[in-house]
Amino acid sequence: MTATDAAGTAGAAAGNVGAGTEGAGAGTATIMAGGIPVDTRHFIGGERVASPETYRNTSPIDGGFLGDISRGGEHEVDQAVVAAREAFAAWAALGPHKRGVILHRIADLVEQNLETLANIETLDNGGLLRSNLRGVMPRVAHNIRFFADYAINDLGHPDFETRGHTNHVTWDPSGVAALITPWNAPLMLATWKIGPALAAGDTVVLKPAEWTPLTASFFADLTKQAGLPAGVFNVVQGYGKEAGAALVAHPGISRISFTGSVPTAKTIAKAAADNLTPTSFELGGKSPCIVLADADLELAASLAVEQYDNAGQVCLSGTRILVHEDIAEAFAEAFTKKAQSLKQGDPRDPESDIGPQVHVTHFERIKGFVDRARQEGQSVLMGGEPNDELGGLYFKPTLINDPTPGSEIVTQEVFGPVLTMQTFATDDEAIDLANGTEFGLAAVVVSGDRDHAKTITDRLVAGTIWVNCFFVRDLRAPFGGSKKSGVGREGGTWSFDFYADVKNTVVAPNGWKTGS
Ligand code: NAD
Repeated sequence: MTATDAAGTAGAAAGNVGAGTEGAGAGTATIMAGGIPVDTRHFIGGERVASPETYRNTSPIDGGFLGDISRGGEHEVDQAVVAAREAFAAWAALGPHKRGVILHRIADLVEQNLETLANIETLDNGGLLRSNLRGVMPRVAHNIRFFADYAINDLGHPDFETRGHTNHVTWDPSGVAALITPWNAPLMLATWKIGPALAAGDTVVLKPAEWTPLTASFFADLTKQAGLPAGVFNVVQGYGKEAGAALVAHPGISRISFTGSVPTAKTIAKAAADNLTPTSFELGGKSPCIVLADADLELAASLAVEQYDNAGQVCLSGTRILVHEDIAEAFAEAFTKKAQSLKQGDPRDPESDIGPQVHVTHFERIKGFVDRARQEGQSVLMGGEPNDELGGLYFKPTLINDPTPGSEIVTQEVFGPVLTMQTFATDDEAIDLANGTEFGLAAVVVSGDRDHAKTITDRLVAGTIWVNCFFVRDLRAPFGGSKKSGVGREGGTWSFDFYADVKNTVVAPNGWKTGS
């Protein structure tokens, strides 16, 4: 990918939301994102480091220029890994309590800068400002607090005996964690990794998604302000095929935690194989939203409409609505009524329900899926096209009815505001449809009968299932995907199992003493 490829103008209206200095190039260190200064350089060893090359970052809201971002490669990645390795021993030796004090200070600063972070994120990825203010950024702080406290209070395993010998299990820091994150919830997903990695005593090199580099950069300054020692947390900006590829291939890292697409995960797995670096993958989905005949229709329609959240750019989204044939017509009516009342518009407007897609490349990808479905003769019940009134990167919430089994629209992840609806007559049919893709990330089941719902959830292959609800997430719970939706689980102890070196020390019956 070239720097020019990253420019997301989409023929959008010109408004210069970022007020960066266009074309300022490598010398530009700070841009004004909506009046907020954000450094566009890497953060390595506690200092700002510029690359000779930059790439252009624009806002999905109106294509406005946000800034020229440092474009890292092998050299910057190596610098960052070296800094993280140098910082490792002291950070690991600090222990969970002292690490926790600093991590809580970072969370305090996130809370003090909540509005700023929310505004930067909205400018950069087009997510709703009200969601970033009320849900996402508070969650960012919680991600850090939770794992800091978990390492102190909850991580542990009671000692157990084997023929009088004591087994003592510990979670030791493992080294440098390489974290690679996507653009759909940039800082939320990054801190979901940063929190446990730092709490476990690892040091970190983060490579944020190239379309959304800004909140990670701002966050780096907060870590410094909080007193996190230099080198413990590093950010290298740049493209996946350059900075990302160099990072996952680096022999100096001890863990790779990646959230993103299946094709990228396959590439990373190959690079990781050379050094046998352990990987954790949180990947895509094509989750079902199953509406049983005994479901409350209003609730079912509301939950189904929620799947358009974040303009459909949510990995967990239940994009395949599977509805019992007896209630399909009534459900479709209730659903379309609710979906058509969603307001699409500027994500900074508190009245907006759906903002723009993140980038012109992604917008065209979504449009391509829907155009091909139409050409195949699939029935577009709602939406199915860009919102011409708004222009730019706004794609209308779309529903495709009764898609051909096995067609791409019902098997491939679109990652946009595009849902499909299929009917079933029996529970067996519902299960076959639900489990019938290569993914297994999540599922939603809507039912008025607890026992009936349980017979369904028992047979679903998915990392997370919601019954009569959606998006309730507790950091104590395991999170991850089955089949192609992921490798491993994170959350609670599962996160520490990954980031730490789990060790069992077996002590003889007479304790640590030698002799009799
Ligand atoms: P992506 O795979 O294109 O990119 C993700 C990250 O990987 C980016 O930072 C990118 O720069 C980097 N990258 C790309 N090529 C690389 C390489 N060769 N080596 C190392 N790094 C590389 O994914 P995306 O388009 O940014 O994100 C969307 C995908 O993420 C969807 O499939 C979505 O379902 C998934 N996702 C999953 C979860 C989850 O928790 N399971 C959460 C959010 C998003």
